[in-house]
Amino acid sequence: MTIENLINKLCRLQQQNISKFDKFKNPLLGLISPSWYFSDSVRLFQGMELSWKNCEKTDFVSRLANNINEIDISIPEGSTFESNFCSWYQPYHYIPRDKWGVHIRYRCLQTLSAEFYRDCPNLTNNPIDSAQASFFYLYIHEFFHYLIENETTSIELECSDPLLYANYLSNIYTKVFNTNECIEEALANSYLFERSNLCRIEKQYLKQKLLNQLPGYNNFINYSDSKFKDGLIQLIAQIMKQRNHESNTKIIHVVERDEFSNIFSLENIPIWIHQIPLHIY
Ligand SMILES: [Zn+2]
Repeated sequence: MTIENLINKLCRLQQQNISKFDKFKNPLLGLISPSWYFSDSVRLFQGMELSWKNCEKTDFVSRLANNINEIDISIPEGSTFESNFCSWYQPYHYIPRDKWGVHIRYRCLQTLSAEFYRDCPNLTNNPIDSAQASFFYLYIHEFFHYLIENETTSIELECSDPLLYANYLSNIYTKVFNTNECIEEALANSYLFERSNLCRIEKQYLKQKLLNQLPGYNNFINYSDSKFKDGLIQLIAQIMKQRNHESNTKIIHVVERDEFSNIFSLENIPIWIHQIPLHIY
């Protein structure tokens, strides 16, 4: 099923249950600073396949690469995803949907590029590759959140229950955010760690960078390799428990079905770049 079809089906299910869904506001608004959340953004890679080769040709990569020596990295700003509003994933479950997708702060791309350019063994003194690596580093982590939303949407459609994702995000994810209980962030980093070849960041360097992140994020190490699947089972169980859909056989079935084994692919979803925070009085 294409993402457009999935979203259309979800819209119909939400409309049939509008009175129940109405009370849910996007809880990410409580985590991301409103000055960034509501700031202007421009869309990248629209109508263009997302690949390392195409990324190299973009203006934002040349701009990052050209100014790489001028970036002050003494105050690191580009390492911890949602916890310092570096990048976040805006789910399509919430209305308005016009800005769903991956959101990235340009300043974080600058600091990350400069850090990779200076310190990452395989990127040292390579401005273009450092700039691209910084983009894929943020994108791959956020892409995992998209996969989890998709998987939950499929379960919602199967069970005719449009509240699973909203319940999970409000009652579990935001409550455990920035703690070791936050399995979704640990798995998002584990997903990124296993894709060091896609973001072209040397694996030991990437490992150290992720271990230096905040609680929850740095717990990826407990879900790497074969333990990734155990983490997925735990996360799907957390999500399904929200509406008493929990059953071990069903959870294992969900984790093992085709859509989920395709988790290793990486596709284009809307990508938004934010440059200037919104001034909020
Ligand atoms: Zn995240």
